Amino acid sequence: MLRFFNTLTRQIEDFQPIEDGKVRMYICGPTVWNFAHIGNFRTFVFGDILRRYLKFKGYELTHVMNLTDIDDRIINEAAARNISIDEFTAPYTQYFLEDFDALGNERPEIMPRATHHIAEMIEIISKLLENGHAYESDGSIYYRIAAFPEYGKLSKIKFEGNIAGGSERIDTDKYDKEDARDFALWKLVGENEQPGWDAPFGRGRPGWHIECSAMAMKYLGPTFDLHAGGQDLQFPHHENEIAQSEGSTGKQFAKYWIHSEFLKIDDVTMSKSKGNFFTFRDLTKQGYSPLAIRYLLLSVPYRKQLNFTFEGLHGAESTVERLRNFRSLVKESGGSADERDAVELVILALRKFTAAMDDDLNTAAALAAVHDLVREVNVIMSERPLSPEERDAVLDAVGKFNMVLGIFGEEDDAMLDADIEALIKERQQARANRDFARSDHIRDELAAKGIILEDTKEGVRWKRK
Ligand code: AMP
Ligand code: ZN
Repeated sequence: MLRFFNTLTRQIEDFQPIEDGKVRMYICGPTVWNFAHIGNFRTFVFGDILRRYLKFKGYELTHVMNLTDIDDRIINEAAARNISIDEFTAPYTQYFLEDFDALGNERPEIMPRATHHIAEMIEIISKLLENGHAYESDGSIYYRIAAFPEYGKLSKIKFEGNIAGGSERIDTDKYDKEDARDFALWKLVGENEQPGWDAPFGRGRPGWHIECSAMAMKYLGPTFDLHAGGQDLQFPHHENEIAQSEGSTGKQFAKYWIHSEFLKIDDVTMSKSKGNFFTFRDLTKQGYSPLAIRYLLLSVPYRKQLNFTFEGLHGAESTVERLRNFRSLVKESGGSADERDAVELVILALRKFTAAMDDDLNTAAALAAVHDLVREVNVIMSERPLSPEERDAVLDAVGKFNMVLGIFGEEDDAMLDADIEALIKERQQARANRDFARSDHIRDELAAKGIILEDTKEGVRWKRK
């Protein structure tokens, strides 16, 4: 049974989707204003593991990850360059997706952009104004936290010390809000100011939090199964998403909330503002492979902090190489005996692997199961080749590990020497049987894979193109 730590209840809970066999999930995506750093990617790789494991468990998945293509930083940077926000965000969106793909992440089913969902945001804000969960002040629209008594249920932050909600207006320079906790849903902008959108409550632009409520509910409905994101989003972002969504629909928003911990460097959180970050490209430029970076990012369970070191990355590099070599060795191992030892080991390893992943996605324990199997099968292969049944079982397990973790990388398309030689033998046999159609077919098949055959007096020679 799959179990998660639900931030909403602060408990490990059995995962039970609303609809049998189907999971609807929302993960907060990147702000496309710069290159994402590997701290950001720790969160996205975690989201990918969550996604892949749900699929592995047989769920049909609708996974939404938004792209935040409007916020103050984007507006300022675009204005400084005298270009539109679309022109500014387009290349960063592309860089993000390139890096995201290179890290072996599967694309979510839906990747909506905030600026394409302004109408949906306006609709929610209108509802909140209608039912008293929002109010206008100096042309902007704010969420009225006093009207949502459950505010704080996710982050468990106690607000006693804060200014109490109420209708009395707080007269300070800093706040034109009823309550210091109230947050902007819609910010007033001038007639000709860009970007700006017309709304029944005045021309403006959205606050940050409303976009996720709008896009999550549009694609997943008012109530859905899972909502995830980095630890820092718990408050205020996710708390505000709940307030906006539940305030407008009266229904529970997400059932399970999952938050992943930070990537640190020298024990300080990696962040753009602190300047202590590496982008994915910084590391690949230094020769590190995307697979090793991925391995490092997922090697520590998501609820534990991970401290980035180059030593760790070196270690990940040799580990992924060992895993790839292992897969090649197993493929080439061609005994004919009736042995079953490795089959038994595979059954045990898969059991340990799924138990670890079921346990709140314990990737460290899952990796231990992978490495144990690799070590034990290597011992067998040092003594004798694997039997066909063993070879198939081990390759099947590797396929399953890879489906969930993506740490073995793509299958090598290049043909192994043993496979080539087997085909050549078959071609000779076909020729001996005067089955020229078959022999030509084999020659063409090999040619398509870049293998060239030369018929010589001494027999057939082959070389790679
Ligand atoms: P942003 O692009 O700033 O909206 O952030 C994208 C995601 O990266 C969010 O889910 C953040 O929680 C996450 N994030 C930011 N810094 C880190 C870090 N050092 N480690 C892990 N996740 C992070
Ligand atoms: Zn969000």
